[in-house]
Amino acid sequence: MTGCRAALPGRLTTGMSEVDVIILGTGAAGMAAALAAHDAGASVALVERWDRIGGTSAISGGVIWVADNPRMRAAGMSDSREDALAYFRSLDHGDLVPETLEAFVDRGPEALAFLEDAGALAVSVLPGYPDYYTDRPGAKPQGSRALDHDLFDLTTLGEWATKIYAIEEPKPLMLRETPLGGASAMPPMEVLGQRMAARQCGFGQAMVARLLKACLTRGIEPILGVETKRLVRDGERITGIEGTKDGAPFALAARRGVIITTGGFEWDAEARQTFLRGPVTAPASPPTGTGGGLKLAMAAGAKLGNMTSAWWAPTLVTPDAPWASGEPRAQIILIERTVPHSIMVNRSGQRFCNEAANYSALGGVFHQFDPATYDYANLPAWLIFDAQYAARYPLGTRQPGQPMPDWVARADTLEGLAGEIGLEADALVETVARFNVHADEGRDPEFGRGNSAYDHFYGDRSRAKEKGGAAVTLGAIREAPFYAVEISSGLLGTNGGPRTDGQARILGHDGAPIPGLLGAGNAIACPTGGIYAGAGGTLGPALTFGYIAGRTAALANA
Ligand SMILES: Cc1cc2nc3c(=O)[nH]c(=O)nc-3n(C[C@H](O)[C@H](O)[C@H](O)COP(=O)(O)OP(=O)(O)OC[C@H]3O[C@@H](n4cnc5c(N)ncnc54)[C@H](O)[C@@H]3O)c2cc1C
Repeated sequence: MTGCRAALPGRLTTGMSEVDVIILGTGAAGMAAALAAHDAGASVALVERWDRIGGTSAISGGVIWVADNPRMRAAGMSDSREDALAYFRSLDHGDLVPETLEAFVDRGPEALAFLEDAGALAVSVLPGYPDYYTDRPGAKPQGSRALDHDLFDLTTLGEWATKIYAIEEPKPLMLRETPLGGASAMPPMEVLGQRMAARQCGFGQAMVARLLKACLTRGIEPILGVETKRLVRDGERITGIEGTKDGAPFALAARRGVIITTGGFEWDAEARQTFLRGPVTAPASPPTGTGGGLKLAMAAGAKLGNMTSAWWAPTLVTPDAPWASGEPRAQIILIERTVPHSIMVNRSGQRFCNEAANYSALGGVFHQFDPATYDYANLPAWLIFDAQYAARYPLGTRQPGQPMPDWVARADTLEGLAGEIGLEADALVETVARFNVHADEGRDPEFGRGNSAYDHFYGDRSRAKEKGGAAVTLGAIREAPFYAVEISSGLLGTNGGPRTDGQARILGHDGAPIPGLLGAGNAIACPTGGIYAGAGGTLGPALTFGYIAGRTAALANA
């Protein structure tokens, strides 16, 4: 049996059907695992908890970071294993496990080549997108390790296209066509309209759609709506799953292995509170990451790693646009805190960081604890901006020049704005005045905003010629009305979970692999130890370990 659903109906609820490899979760990691297992000769069941495919991967930017990747090589760009390892090691705070890191670095290019050959990815180098820590050894300040997706034609998926998570919100463009991806302007509305009519998409939608198409072409149809309650064991070995499908009993046996690719645990409030190193007030991921795989792995006796860590990001809750399932929705704040005429301040009305720093590193400032007040010093935080900003730059889905949504605080004076959001007026006025003096001089002696190549990437590059380097991110806050929105401590997903070896086999407490249990993606302790190497720094490891897990399981002794 190659696929699953077509061959199994009727038997799923009454007896134990059998495949070689079961994969839990239909994100990037899960579908990469399914394809790798299938193409290594295994029969595969791709099992999804919810009624939609793709989880966080589907709503993501889809950027993939892999050092020395095939697209770089084809474009004649140089890179090496040594550079990549030096880069990661320079950022290590004790979380890196050499075996898994080296497996990612060594096998990332192989995984990408496999997925491209399998028709599951079509990617190009994202020009100029820098690694996130440009001053570190082995970094690529000029980019090249980050890859962007070519457009995908959703009509080729038939009805399956409607099953992709949040596909109702089309993204008919590629990142490299936007200012965020290095272009000078967005594609014309007319072009976007034509692509929408033709059902073409880019970003994570294109990634998930292409992976899904490659699965369907092989007869691997995702089985939706399965809640796995427990892993079945035969002695030490994991031999299947048991649970429910659409409320009815469901059981499936795996001759060679079960692969956990269920994403993170950020939507399980108890797990979040128990494990993460600081408060998370608004995840940017969809509410699919409820830690199901983590609980299954814990019950199987898995050794855990990276549990305090996540792909952190400052976020903005958009109250008028919740998830379709009703949960509050938050967007990553990236351009908003990097372009001129905006700063972030904390509850004391003080700036507290280089606002333009990379989002994952920046997440750390929200966990800063003040022993004097016994509270988190930088929560809540506020983005403060002015009329110049409003005229030129976006705020979430609101485009430049459009009216500000009602939920944005505003006032004709900074004192008035401080009153609106409960800050001390003198403190905010003084902070803005100090920032303005330095912004006019084109420097930020307090936090070094604008010093690194990364700080410039999301800034307003049209200002570089006229005003010089740091002006792409520094500009005074001077023109009324003044605005404020609350910034949350958010994340793109957690990255802790069961530890694996370099073959993606989940390890038990004794450090030995639990036979028949594998994992990849945000469901496991990330091979990069939570280091966000550059754009694509989570999907690179997820796809690579998905590929490794699929092959390992398929080639295991039954
Ligand atoms: C707005 C946004 C933009 C991002 N952009 C990027 C980017 O450009 N590049 C990058 O590298 N990272 C990006 N990220 C992060 C990235 O999307 C995630 O880290 C990545 O998608 C995780 O992939 P995954 O396969 O592990 O999990 P997911 O994609 O979340 O897939 C997990 C799947 O498992 C399913 N599932 C959950 N529980 C169960 C269960 N018990 N049984 C079966 N199935 C289950 C889920 O429904 C889901 O389909 C972004 C994140 C966000 C929020």
